[in-house]
Amino acid sequence: MTVRLVHTIAVLRKELAAFPAVQTRGFVPTMGALHAGHGRLIHRARAECDQVMVSVFVNPLQFGPKEDYTGYPRTLQEDCAFCDARGVDILFAPEAEEIYPRPQLTFVEVSRMSEPLCGRFRPNHFRGVTTVVLKLFHMIQPHRAYFGEKDAQQLALIRRMVLDLNLPTTIVAVPTVREDDGLACSSRNRYLNPQQRQAAVVLYRALQAAQNQIAAGATDPRQVQAAALAILQQEPLARVEYLELVDPDEMQAVTQITGPARLAGAIWIGSTRLIDNVLCQPPG
Ligand code: AMP
Repeated sequence: MTVRLVHTIAVLRKELAAFPAVQTRGFVPTMGALHAGHGRLIHRARAECDQVMVSVFVNPLQFGPKEDYTGYPRTLQEDCAFCDARGVDILFAPEAEEIYPRPQLTFVEVSRMSEPLCGRFRPNHFRGVTTVVLKLFHMIQPHRAYFGEKDAQQLALIRRMVLDLNLPTTIVAVPTVREDDGLACSSRNRYLNPQQRQAAVVLYRALQAAQNQIAAGATDPRQVQAAALAILQQEPLARVEYLELVDPDEMQAVTQITGPARLAGAIWIGSTRLIDNVLCQPPG
């Protein structure tokens, strides 16, 4: 193994100081249970940076009291081998007490943009995400940080946080990596049984249908959303949480499709919540 596995902030600081000549430090924050989606982020970071850091941290601050914090998959040994095989220099995997030695009283929140879509159903989720990402940025001081488009609202919020707080980190967006049938790779896919796994692809199918309608000239979001919802409702194992067309920068609902828009959805398959989104482009 050449990857350095680090659990504490003190050791992390020492490791970072041991690389004085680093020109570009790339950072890939994750919650672990690494899969091909994370792999794509790491690959991109490795191609663009001379030092690559990955964090694996299941962040309690972004889980609601009834969500899957304790049951979230934790596979650190496999994650470490995954990082090693992809040339990661440092894997930072702290315990919750290391990041939150005392109850967190200080938060960073991107208002308005954190309210729609997932924010409507997961109160305080994005406040937990932006707070931990800012803490990690302070610890790691990356020049570039890599985020997946699969979590489009998270990506938009982090971009805005970086802009609003003048952080010296470039945010790099990486397209969603999908399984062969189109299901977006996700750590939560491993909760699905084979029947649920087959059903889960309905989300991407519905998004694609809407994307095609917009490419063919549809301009009314209600009509496009209704068509996608109808596809989702044909799948008895799926329960729709939301499906909404928003503007790609600020994630606010669009009333007329006049330019690129992001269609984002969340569904439940049994007790597993899945999200996905696609960028929709009107003709021309
Ligand atoms: P997570 O471990 O789920 O918190 O994700 C860590 C990072 O990997 C986030 O920036 C995600 O957007 C990104 N990511 C997760 N799944 C995918 C995927 N299927 N394709 C691309 N990026 C992904």
